[in-house]
Amino acid sequence: MSRDAMRELQGEKLKRIVRHAYENSPFYRTRFDEHGVHPDDIKSIDDITRLPFTIKKDLRDNYPFGLMAVPMSDIIRLHASSGTTGKPIVVGYTRQDLDNWSEAVARCFTAFGLGKSDLVQISYGYGLFTGGLGAHDGVQKIGATVIPTSSGNTQKQIQLMQDFGSTAIACTPSYALYMAETIRKMGIDARNLKLRIGIFGAEPWTAEMRRELQEQLGIKAYDIYGLTEISGPGVGGECECQNGTHIWEDLFYPEIIDPVTLQPVEPGQKGELVFTTLDKWGMPMIRYRTRDLTSLNYDICDCGRTCVRMGKILGRSDDMMIIRGVNVFPSQIESILLEFPEYEPYFLIEVDRVNNTDTFDIQVEVKPEFYTDQINLLVRLRQRLTSRIQSVVGIQPNIRIVQPGTIERSTGKAKRAIDHRKFE
Ligand code: ADP
Ligand code: ZN
Repeated sequence: MSRDAMRELQGEKLKRIVRHAYENSPFYRTRFDEHGVHPDDIKSIDDITRLPFTIKKDLRDNYPFGLMAVPMSDIIRLHASSGTTGKPIVVGYTRQDLDNWSEAVARCFTAFGLGKSDLVQISYGYGLFTGGLGAHDGVQKIGATVIPTSSGNTQKQIQLMQDFGSTAIACTPSYALYMAETIRKMGIDARNLKLRIGIFGAEPWTAEMRRELQEQLGIKAYDIYGLTEISGPGVGGECECQNGTHIWEDLFYPEIIDPVTLQPVEPGQKGELVFTTLDKWGMPMIRYRTRDLTSLNYDICDCGRTCVRMGKILGRSDDMMIIRGVNVFPSQIESILLEFPEYEPYFLIEVDRVNNTDTFDIQVEVKPEFYTDQINLLVRLRQRLTSRIQSVVGIQPNIRIVQPGTIERSTGKAKRAIDHRKFE
């Protein structure tokens, strides 16, 4: 679709959803009135910047059903966010909403090269978390075979993967890493499995982690992105070019704003991602601030898809820690650990404040074959990691090498940082 045709379509859909929200949701009506904007003011997609933002706190304040814009009898499913960053929030879907969501997921899976003859093992958690059922519906839509294992029970999962000949696996990248480790421990050669595609998302992961997972599992690994408020997984996904994540922008309209001034950034610049759901009726989200930091690229992709591409998520703005005045993202540590053949990519950052100074501790694991009781070797290894982190991040960490297998393995979203500081 040409850019002009897309903007035309987005404008038409925006007008409809804004009117729907205004007429059916007391929350949006009040918000728009306070902001001095009326549905009649929205004439094209360019007018979107006249609308007020919605934030996570609005969902919490209206817990559980205050943001629904249809009678509850038209809501046919509820989900809730896993609450990585606080109290859970609830979302509701109409039949049409579920259909649009699975359409989005199906577009991702098709772009990954999956089709009817694939057997897709869903190892995202089933339940209130959107990952399991969201991916599940997408697999059904493309007519592939769903293997709904959910997360956990890792050895049994791997047994089934072997017996059934799963050709694709959908889970968080941290769970994929744990699975690869378990496959090795079970004495299975990953190259003898039928797996060919990994569908990884729900948490940030780096290019180095992609290489690692592709190598360990003998697959091609694709990124899938989404968030509960906007539907769930599948808001966007990579294509075969793996040069950005296509956002299905006829369904989810993306903007990038400066998180401080709240103004749109120059095209291509980094900032906070904001979404408006153009075709979600149960609980429409108007200019929802995701807290995810990224950029958008409107150049046409080599794959021929014309939907905009989003860069890798650097991290959430609330995932970022400020330690001794320096911005630190867990993904930076992940990348660095993967540069070292001696370390496992498992780590735990702990930050505290002692005598008015921030402490910055990182627990890391050395691979069993490099673990030794020769203290001088470990000290040297530790020094190399310390100076590498210091040069990339800008501050010196206190590295603690722990026994192989000590750091908790994750079957869902990994918890990689704990901030013990008290901010009043
Ligand atoms: P919670 O907010 O409780 O973690 P969600 O499952 O809704 O619940 O999480 C959505 C968030 O997960 C996104 O806003 C983003 O920060 C992160 N996320 C999802 N997919 C990806 C991805 N492919 N890459 C990086 N981050 C992702
Ligand atoms: Zn593409």
